[in-house]
Formats: sequence, C-alpha cells, structure tokens
Amino acid sequence: MREFLKTKGFKMTPQRERIFKAFFGLGQHVTVDELYAKVRESDRSIGYATVWRNLKLICKVGLAEEVNLGDGVTRYDRITREPHGHLFCLGCKKLIEFETTEMVPGLTAVASAQRFKPEGFKIEITGYCEKCQSEHKEAETPQAVRW
Ligand SMILES: [Zn+2]
Ligand SMILES: [Zn+2]
Repeated sequence: MREFLKTKGFKMTPQRERIFKAFFGLGQHVTVDELYAKVRESDRSIGYATVWRNLKLICKVGLAEEVNLGDGVTRYDRITREPHGHLFCLGCKKLIEFETTEMVPGLTAVASAQRFKPEGFKIEITGYCEKCQSEHKEAETPQAVRW
C-alpha cells in the first residue's frame, strides 16, 4: 500500500495507514461517520476532517468510489470487488447487493444500439424491503428507478 501510494504521488503516514486499514477492514459501503468511529477506537487524536480527507484520497487513487443513494449520506464502496448492483431500502436504509454479471450483455446491447461505448454500469433500485413494506403501504406503487 505504501509503494502503491508513492506511485500515485502520495506519502503514507502512520495516521493515514490507520485510516486505510480501518476502511478496508470495515468492508463494503462505509460512511464517514462509521469510519471515524472505527478509527477513533485505535487513535483518538485523529479528527473527523482527516478521516474525510483520507476517504477522498482512497477514492482519488481508485481504490473506492462514492455511492450516493439520495438520502443525503455518502457511502464509500471498495472497488476491488466484483461489479454489483444495489437494492436500497428507503425505510430502514438497508443496502442489499446483487450480482450484475448476467445483466451486462443486455446493458451492453442497449449501449451499442446507440453506438455508445460503455465504461461501466451502475444499477440501483430504490424501494422498500420485505420488512418495511408492511409499514409503507404506499410502496405498492413502484418507486422511481435510477440507473
Ligand atoms: Zn456496493
Ligand atoms: Zn427496509
């Protein structure tokens, strides 16, 4: 990781290393708040702004990307994993992942019909999970689907 950062023109500091380790240890869809809480477990001198800046850095060097699901909370997803889609529950904010491998040929066909060269896909379905549906009767009408 130290060498990798150097090739990108950034230095690895002990503080930065702690933040990076915490991020990759937490797994998928980490918010700044979650990472901050995790980092503070091992080092109480690290401030919120530092955590936030380092998350931005992790994205900048291509190891994670921002996921915005329209609830005003930015989540950070590691890029090392298989491409996947998101089912996002508007009720309990649960994020469910699903395989998108089977969909890629269909999506590629849609793009090439427009002579469009796709570089990536983002599949997000918003709505209500099974548990929340009973509390959200209005959810029976399909929610807006953003691609
Ligand atoms: Zn994800
Ligand atoms: Zn739910």
